[in-house]
Amino acid sequence: MPDIRLENVTKIYKSQTERRRRETAVQDASLTVEQGEFVFVIGSSGSGKSTLLGLMSGLVRPTRGTVRLGDKDLSMLKLVSKNKVSMCFGYVPQEMSLMRKRTVAENLELAVRVRGFGDKHTREARIKKVLGLVGLPGAEKKYPVELSTGEGRRVELARAIINSPPILVLDELTANLDDDSIWDIFHLLNDINNRGTTVIMATHASRYVNIMRRRVLTMVDGRIHADVRGGKYGDVAGPGRGPSKPI
Ligand code: ADP
Repeated sequence: MPDIRLENVTKIYKSQTERRRRETAVQDASLTVEQGEFVFVIGSSGSGKSTLLGLMSGLVRPTRGTVRLGDKDLSMLKLVSKNKVSMCFGYVPQEMSLMRKRTVAENLELAVRVRGFGDKHTREARIKKVLGLVGLPGAEKKYPVELSTGEGRRVELARAIINSPPILVLDELTANLDDDSIWDIFHLLNDINNRGTTVIMATHASRYVNIMRRRVLTMVDGRIHADVRGGKYGDVAGPGRGPSKPI
């Protein structure tokens, strides 16, 4: 199972409003995420969390530095290999990304089909199973507009895990959800992680980060300000175990 390795990675965007302006979203980030880790990425809005997640999953091309998944350099891949690599990731973006004119089952089926999974019966069974896992049994025929925000996010999580990828990357999955829903989702992610899946999650849910005591990466102004294993929200050094990397 592949590790993710970032070496001196910088991402600079061109400003969308002023042609000449450049925005350094992530600066000189180096880190390794080993298979099976659970990593929270925290930091204020605009600190570079989403960009870091995009870089780690090969969706954002670095301006400088390298991103590796196992022995593959993600920025050097040709399309076929890129598609193969994307199969390693289950990704939930910050914004709702379900197709509005498709039912829940259709949204999920498209994700399964990309992997070419079996016949209709097998696909339906998989969809049923994954909807049960995220606490939405029987939601197949609903349209996204008929779902609450929390239910919509659960369907997106279902879509991300339906092909059992080795790595899950989740951007603010629990934003705007009620406590019960957040708690359910963290439980589920904990179970998934205990079965060996890497979970990388940008979040503001400080209470839950503090309960889970996993690796916590803190972003400040595009830099990795702290990287603490067994950490809490706002920690810059670990509880006796020290930072996983000097800051
Ligand atoms: P966060 O997820 O912590 O809110 P982001 O990674 O979304 O942070 O953004 C970091 C910085 O990069 C912000 O200043 C943001 O405006 C800028 N940025 C992000 N994406 C783009 C983009 N596609 N084009 C231009 N600037 C961007």
